[in-house]
Amino acid sequence: MENIILTGDRPSGKLHIGHYVGSLKRRVELQNSGNFDKIYIMIADAQALTDNFDNPEKVRANITEVALDYLACGIDPNKSTVFVQSHIAELTELTFYYMNLVTLARLQRNPTVKAEIKQKNYELSLPMGFLTYPVSQTADITAFKANTVPVGEDQLPMLEQAREIVRSFNGLYGETLVEPKAVLPENKSCLRLPGTDGMAKMSKSLGNCIYLSDSADEIKRKVMGMYTDPNHIKVTDPGDTQNNPTFIYLDAFASDEHFARYLPEYACLEEMKAHYERGGLGDMKVKKLLNAVMQETLEPIRLRREELAKDIPAIWDMLYRGSEEARAVAAQTLSEVKKAMRIDYFSDRK
Ligand code: ATP
Ligand code: MG
Repeated sequence: MENIILTGDRPSGKLHIGHYVGSLKRRVELQNSGNFDKIYIMIADAQALTDNFDNPEKVRANITEVALDYLACGIDPNKSTVFVQSHIAELTELTFYYMNLVTLARLQRNPTVKAEIKQKNYELSLPMGFLTYPVSQTADITAFKANTVPVGEDQLPMLEQAREIVRSFNGLYGETLVEPKAVLPENKSCLRLPGTDGMAKMSKSLGNCIYLSDSADEIKRKVMGMYTDPNHIKVTDPGDTQNNPTFIYLDAFASDEHFARYLPEYACLEEMKAHYERGGLGDMKVKKLLNAVMQETLEPIRLRREELAKDIPAIWDMLYRGSEEARAVAAQTLSEVKKAMRIDYFSDRK
């Protein structure tokens, strides 16, 4: 069996450091590992429209922003096929057939979708497209016969749903689709990076993000204003590092070399954490280190991004090439699906 990756992001905003540690960084490593036969990276505009249908301009504008974020982080269009979801009508057709293999009750049980519905206060105005987006995500994954999907933790229910649909399809119509597996970040802090406000997840829709494109000043302002341990009032108070986003970010980004460079009084993060936990270490010092680490990490990405942003037509060219290539692959899978379902009535007439 071929080793194929499908992964992607919704163009509902620019990408942030949660995307970077949760999925982007891993994708670049996998891309450069040489272990994969094909890598597809999808800008999920049709999925973004399920909760932004009243603002297609926002989705349109963010397609190039997300593509710039990809390239700035090291996605190489010669090694990975980057494409736009809505260009590929075959994905919608696959979704339509997969819808029959899922019940309403099953969709309503998806914990990620459930949390998102609550967060958006949809109640009775819940768009059907939004509720069914895990089914369309199954179409995205299976259209490319992907066996590997590098994602953040919030996507595990989507992968479970995809595996169920694949098993159900193959059971009913014969072995056709490939069962995918999620690849999560190895570092626990990266599974679901919290927001700068301490909310459980940094999310484009929540406005609690440090973006890959933020200026040096914005990064500093956001880091200095971050939520920490609310019970750590005086420097001498013992502090909590577990639920404290400043330490979670350091877990995700800081290395021993950073300590040697910026704060040599500690050899490593564990020593600094121990000091904070027993009391005597102020938030300001933690934030100053975090700011230095974030600046060092994000500066090269920002500079590459600024260069790439000078030629937006070249970005659309890359997306068009990738989308055409991806479309041919999805069309092949769709014809196999229709054959398996015995609805390929006119295939002999071509
Ligand atoms: P939206 O709020 O519009 O859903 P989002 O910030 O959740 O946006 P997505 O495009 O839905 O971003 O997710 C893209 C990928 O990034 C997924 O694999 C998701 O698991 C991962 N991801 C998103 N946010 C985080 C986070 N805070 N920490 C780790 N991974 C994340
Ligand atoms: Mg999301």
